[in-house]
Amino acid sequence: MASVSLISAAGKRLEGKVALITGGASGIGEVTARLFSKHGAHVVIADIQDHLGLSLSKELESASYIHCDVTNENHVENAVNTVVSKHGKLDTMFNNAGIIGPNKTCILDNTKSEFEAVINVNLVGVFLGIKHAARVMIPARRGSIVNTASVCGSIGGVASHAYTTSKHGVVGLTRNTAVELGAFGVRVNCVSPYVVATPLAKNFFKLDDKGVHGVYSNLKGAVLEPKDVAEAALYLASDESKYVSGHNLVVDGAFTVVNSGFCVFGQSS
Ligand code: NAD
Repeated sequence: MASVSLISAAGKRLEGKVALITGGASGIGEVTARLFSKHGAHVVIADIQDHLGLSLSKELESASYIHCDVTNENHVENAVNTVVSKHGKLDTMFNNAGIIGPNKTCILDNTKSEFEAVINVNLVGVFLGIKHAARVMIPARRGSIVNTASVCGSIGGVASHAYTTSKHGVVGLTRNTAVELGAFGVRVNCVSPYVVATPLAKNFFKLDDKGVHGVYSNLKGAVLEPKDVAEAALYLASDESKYVSGHNLVVDGAFTVVNSGFCVFGQSS
């Protein structure tokens, strides 16, 4: 029996850690909350979808929910303070909340307010999350901050101007803060998924549960699922990535490194 419990403890890669997940009520955030919890973390779900977030927190072994609009600095500050006052620390901040905005491809049709709304959630929200996580991680001299960027943080043409701009910003902010916060033992990384069939992507790309496959994806025989992104976040949150910082962990089956129009390897399946 002793060896069985040793194995299960070793298999829990976030045992005793405390993680705050923004956008944790749905999609990638929800699946990450489930995975982190399975790996022994206490998870605090921060979202604006109170009903979903609360019911998820009740389902998980050790979790709670807090209403937090990531565009509101008081909310983000309060979420971090609540975590620290209840649990004494914050080990992982997963800045994951995001919106995609309207599907308007022509810049002439884009309004300033629509552009700003996407930047506010996807980029300013991540800035506030990093800032307030750093506030408590710097004195602790440790912590892992993980941000959700996107393949749209590396290339253009996949989504709107606002979304692409916001995700390029997340990659830049990840790199800059990794440099600064490394001096305090705090790591900052991001994950950059290809299209995953979450509510966000299903509405925007009119997808079914199977996500995008066929001509657009590069890697055949596999379809990207939220769990694959959660596994990447788990690695960056865990001590297994203890020397990884400033990294953009792209989870895209090599979508962003190939121009299929010029590819010499052919697209036959
Ligand atoms: P989702 O819509 O399922 O989840 C996003 C969550 O963020 C929701 O629970 C939503 O309520 C929350 N949210 C939105 N605005 C918020 C705010 N102001 N404050 C707090 N929470 C807020 O979508 P998802 O696909 O799981 O998106 C998660 C992240 O992944 C986003 O940053 C998104 O840009 C990114 N992403 C998604 C894909 C994809 O194809 N699904 C690909 C690359 C990157």
